[in-house]
Amino acid sequence: MPNPLYDRLFGKHAGRQDAFLHRPGAEAISYDAFLKMAARIAHALTECGLQPGDRLAVQVQKSPEALAIYAACAQSGVIFLPLNTAYTVDELTYFIENSGAKLVVCDPSGADGLRPVAQGLGARLETLAANGSGSLTDIAAGQSDAFDTVDRSGGDLAAFLYTSGTTGRSKGAMLTQDNLLSNAETLAEHWRFSDADILLHALPIFHTHGLFVATNVTLSAGGSMIFLPKFDLDTIIAEMPRATTMMGVPTFYTRLLDDPRFTRDLTGHMRLFISGSAPLLAETHIRFEERTGHRILERYGMTETNMNTSNPYDGERRAGTVGFPLPGVDLKITDPQTGATLPQGAVGQIEVRGPNVFKGYWQMPEKTAAELRADGFFITGDLGRIDEDGYVVIVGRNKDLIISGGYNIYPKEIELVLDDQPGVMESAVVGVPHPDFGETVLGVLVAEPGATPDLDAIQKAASQRLARFKHPRKLIVVDELPRNTMGKVQKNILRDRYKDLFA
Ligand code: ATP
Ligand code: MG
Repeated sequence: MPNPLYDRLFGKHAGRQDAFLHRPGAEAISYDAFLKMAARIAHALTECGLQPGDRLAVQVQKSPEALAIYAACAQSGVIFLPLNTAYTVDELTYFIENSGAKLVVCDPSGADGLRPVAQGLGARLETLAANGSGSLTDIAAGQSDAFDTVDRSGGDLAAFLYTSGTTGRSKGAMLTQDNLLSNAETLAEHWRFSDADILLHALPIFHTHGLFVATNVTLSAGGSMIFLPKFDLDTIIAEMPRATTMMGVPTFYTRLLDDPRFTRDLTGHMRLFISGSAPLLAETHIRFEERTGHRILERYGMTETNMNTSNPYDGERRAGTVGFPLPGVDLKITDPQTGATLPQGAVGQIEVRGPNVFKGYWQMPEKTAAELRADGFFITGDLGRIDEDGYVVIVGRNKDLIISGGYNIYPKEIELVLDDQPGVMESAVVGVPHPDFGETVLGVLVAEPGATPDLDAIQKAASQRLARFKHPRKLIVVDELPRNTMGKVQKNILRDRYKDLFA
């Protein structure tokens, strides 16, 4: 029976003895062994009472078994709902209630706290530990290695993926089989993945980057992954010689560059480094090339759409840009007020349409209607422009736009100037309330190790390069910027922290 997502990502590898997951210090797991593990879990899910279309909420450590739950969901038609391991019981309550999950799988350490919540919401609770043990594994243990794949069509929902919550409360994005599959196949081809590729995988698997981009691309091409529980510099450096490709968030790359062991020799054999989930500073891109000879390929996507744009594989990978719309993706820049398409070069909201775009936010019809147009375009919430050669440049999020004295100010423009100043490692510019201007510009700086930035000199440099209304009213140096687990700067926290500065 057909089930496009399962058949084209997983089922086609049935019986293959070559490695799917490599792990340091342990034996590799073959495709065959992985698919059998997934089939046993699919039986276990059925035994727990799950039927096609039901939701399964999963908050567990990264492990091969955790990934096999995703495969089991695809095979059994259950909607997969992975959750950030950092979420507290209160936060989980929202996700379980909001999604109407029938089964919750959590780490054994969290089971006592979560059981009453799950029970109160009518959900069953099972456990899975980082080492693969747990009550779910116990139920799966005695099951058959073969599971009759449940009939599905491309339009059926495959996952609810909650957004990172960078700008507010996380929203459950409803993703269909076709959304995931079309993007996986496009990316695998675009980035030239093959069955010879070995991807260094240190990303979490509760987020679109590590779960769908990294894993689905590998599965589609039939390659393998060095599957690491987390980003650990020593392990990454030790494992790099046997990898061919790596996907990371920008902080992975800055941390690698800070390590003297990360050299041209270590990376000479690598085929491709990919970055996304947050902006890669042009400076990081340049330093990376100077150090290794490789140009990082930056791409742009989000929970709701998977990937939308990518720098080219063969052509110029342009620093500070996210490249061109992927094949099949329409992208336009529009006026936030009127929705009219803006001319090339103008800054506006980024809208995208394509087979990758989600079906809407679960149980949020108003939000869905406000952001997903009838003609299929999704208003991403990001602001950007298209440069003279067609590369998309992201200038920030709509919600981070500063309106001061009636002028629109894009934080990115100011951040680029601040980042250039001596002693500054990185910066975040936010708008804070101001009695005269409505909002005013605040620059939050992180110093380079051992440096003490000269704030007066920086103000002076900024005033030479930026129009007066964009000058930071104040600069503050902090030890580090608040970031969430995907390395995204949480500007809402900064806005909140400094809201009374001028009030
Ligand atoms: P929420 O929607 O809950 O506020 P979020 O938007 O951070 O959270 P994700 O879907 O994980 O949740 O992230 C998508 C966002 O990440 C994009 O909308 C964009 O702002 C940012 N992003 C992704 N890739 C890039 C990139 N290469 N450059 C700049 N920003 C990027
Ligand atoms: Mg978002």
